[in-house]
Amino acid sequence: MQNRCVFCRIVQGIEPARILYRDEEVIAFRDINPQAPFHALVIPTQHIASLNDIEVAQDRVLGKLFLVAKQIAHGAGYTESGYRVAMNCGRDAGQTVFHIHLHVLAGRFLTWPPG
Ligand code: AMP
Ligand code: ZN
Repeated sequence: MQNRCVFCRIVQGIEPARILYRDEEVIAFRDINPQAPFHALVIPTQHIASLNDIEVAQDRVLGKLFLVAKQIAHGAGYTESGYRVAMNCGRDAGQTVFHIHLHVLAGRFLTWPPG
């Protein structure tokens, strides 16, 4: 846990968030600046800065991020219409919060390629 990390503070409950899912290893919450009608973030409770920092020992929790992404998309009703799961890594990808997270976007047609 890092007190300077906004997502670690959400994990600890000291930063407000609209939580959609929580267990010991993973939480999901609404993005504060949504880019689609549904925009959530799925994060490990453990601080991992970015995709550049993942390790083999974390493979189970990293896989679980996708299971939770599927679950919250299903819960919000987007299984059939579709949704996008995306992860930014580093400066050129526009990563702004250095606590690894999956974006889950849905509720509008999402163009490809992204900007
Ligand atoms: P990225 O650019 O991939 O690092 O995405 C970071 C995301 O975190 C952005 O979409 C932000 O809107 C979102 N974000 C930043 N701070 C918060 C917060 N306190 N609660 C919810 N979402 C946040
Ligand atoms: Zn963190």
